[in-house]
Order: sequence, then C-alpha cells, then structure tokens
Amino acid sequence: MQKNIALLGSTGSIGRNVLNVVRRFPGRFRIVSLAAGRNIALLRDQIEAFNPFLVSVENSDYARELAAMLPAGWSEKILCGREGNERVATIDRADTVVSAIVGAAGLMPTLAAIRAGKNIALANKETLVMAGDLVMEEASRRKVNLLPIDSEHNAIFQALTAGRREDVHKIILTASGGPFRQKNERDLWDVTPEEALNHPNWDMGNKISIDSATLMNKGLEVIEARWLFDIEVENIEVLVHPQSIVHSLVEYIDGSVIAQMGIPDMRIPITYALSWPERLKTGLSRLNLTQCMDLNFFPPDFNKFPALKLAYHACKAGGTKPAILNAANEVAVASFLGKKIRFPEIALVVAETLNRLGRKDIKDIETVLDADLSARMQAESIVEALSIKFKQKTGRQDECPDLPPGLVMKS
Ligand code: MG
Repeated sequence: MQKNIALLGSTGSIGRNVLNVVRRFPGRFRIVSLAAGRNIALLRDQIEAFNPFLVSVENSDYARELAAMLPAGWSEKILCGREGNERVATIDRADTVVSAIVGAAGLMPTLAAIRAGKNIALANKETLVMAGDLVMEEASRRKVNLLPIDSEHNAIFQALTAGRREDVHKIILTASGGPFRQKNERDLWDVTPEEALNHPNWDMGNKISIDSATLMNKGLEVIEARWLFDIEVENIEVLVHPQSIVHSLVEYIDGSVIAQMGIPDMRIPITYALSWPERLKTGLSRLNLTQCMDLNFFPPDFNKFPALKLAYHACKAGGTKPAILNAANEVAVASFLGKKIRFPEIALVVAETLNRLGRKDIKDIETVLDADLSARMQAESIVEALSIKFKQKTGRQDECPDLPPGLVMKS
C-alpha cells in the first residue's frame, strides 16, 4: 500500500535523506506536502521533482520569492509561518507525517499532525523533550504510531521487539562522543564553531552538530527516550562509542543485551520508520564487521561535557524543566555559532537559565510555550552578560567556572 507523506523540514539534512528514500521506492511512498524554512532554491527543485499539493515556507517574503520561481497557479498552494506548517502537517491526503523541523519550532506542527490522526515518523527531538507527557498521551488517545527516525531511538525500537516490555532492565544510548572527545577540558575554551561543526561520523545540520560536540544532543535523546519508551530516566544509560556502528542497545532482566548495528547512514532508520513493520531492500552498502576497526566503548565524561548532566537533571526534575533546558540551549548554540560566547559557556548558559527559572507542572501546551519563551529571554540576557565579559578579556580564560551549585548531578 502506498504511503502518502507530509514532510516537515524538507530542505534540512533529514528532509533531504527522506526524499532520497522516497525516490528509491516510487510505488511505496508519495510526497503530498512539504514544509521548509528559507532554502527556497532547494525547495523549488523539490517541488519540481515531487509535485506536492501544498508547501509552506518561513514567512510571506519567502512565499512570494518562491511563487515567482514557479508556474502561475502555484501561489495559492504556498503557505507560510506556523499556520502554514500546521496545514502541511494536517493535509487530508497525508497518512504519515515526517517531523524533521529542527528545534522547538517542530513541536506545534507535530502536535497538530497527531491531533489530526496522522502516524508520525519522528526526527524532531524537541517535540518529546518539551512536551513528552502531553504528546504521548495525545498519540495514544488518537491511536497514532510514533516511529522514531533518530538512529538511537530507531535502534531501541528495533531491539525492543526482542522481548516483553516488563522484562527490560535498561536501555543504553550510544554516543559518538563528538569531535572533542579527546580534547582536554581547558582546550575546549579555544575551539571554534568551524571545529565544532566537523562531526567525525555523521553529516548533520549545524544545530545538531554543535549539540553532538557538547553532548547535549545525547542529553536531549535521553529525555526523548524517557517518553517514547515510557522508561524511567534512571534506567537510561549513555555509552560513548566513537565508531557509530552500534546504534543503541536494550538490556533485559536475564542479562541478554540486544544491539542494533549498521553503517552510519540515516537512510536506514528513515526507511525502517517509513516501511515498519515491513523491511525494504535499501540497496545501501552493508555493514562488514571484518572491515571495521576495533569497536570501542567508554563511559561519558560528565565533567568535560556538563550539558549531558544538565539534561539528566532536567529530565529528573520534569515539568517545564526540559523545555527550559532546550530553549536555553538553542539560544546558547546560536550565540556560540555567532561567536558571542565560547564553547564551554553553552552549558553555562543552560545551567544558569535552569537555575533562574523554576519548575512548573505542565497542564497544557501553553505552559510549555510560555516556559520556552521565558527561557529564551533569560538565556539571551545571560549571553549578553557573558559576551561583554568575553570582549573585555584579552587572553583566554584560565579558570573553567563551576556550574551553579544544585545543578551538579553525581555521575
Ligand atoms: Mg541521534
């Protein structure tokens, strides 16, 4: 049976991989709508190749720009902004929505798609990080499937088919460790955005590449896993595995550990999320373990990468804390990329924002959006203070400031 797909985030790294998969299986998948941000030239090419019924872009300026590139008649099919994203996500013709917008902006269209009864192939972590409880409840009420695209969660989803849920002892998320795994703590003050963007194994967008370098990406994945698999955060572990061959593992009460392995190519988890419960012949190169170097595993260094510790802490605290963590991190990452703060200050901004804003219970989605907004404002003001200090300093900072007390979790 053909799946009709609405794709949110079509010009990003995941979006382009999704379209590559769709192109491989023309009878199986059909693109019915696309949402992108500002990459109008690429979106135009995608429209020509996939001929969707509806598209959306970031704002009305981009919508006009896009309309001018397309044949007459197209302009009424081009929407924009949050409403545009939601219309793309809830279009009647779609049965599956691929949620691949980066960041907090992915939450509302994904929720709209769930409320419209669409099955979700989920690449946007923030949907569950910010509002996991609400989103999972809504998904179960509407009886929609949430299939993870993120390679770790996709691996766990597969490994969980090996046993009963009540027999799971713990789940173990692997992490490549990012480009700075072997750097010493002091040298992290001097790393540039360019170095941080250079991920050893995966080709990803800017935001997630920085998150991989700080290990915040893994922290967000821990929170995502907590909701997606309904497992307490105490039973979720992170394991550094630099080769990115073992994508994650599930340990059962009898001591059996089930791992999912494969080459690091996002088209494998994407294909599985779209074709589940079937498997398709992807034609991609196959894992050859005799040609792999050694496979290594290490515990994560929580002191060198405090962002991971902060994410565990926020997950444990619950309520609006994970949404605050996420919003502060988005501001901090953008500030690091804009060279306003230094690499270790990303975690500092997040820690200080968490410190300043109290936890609230999540009653509805507005509570989440309010927490997101307040956290952004707090984080911006912390960044301002840090960047003034940064400009005043002539040399490098020799002392790595401690995290605020109370936020330091025992590793
Ligand atoms: Mg991942």
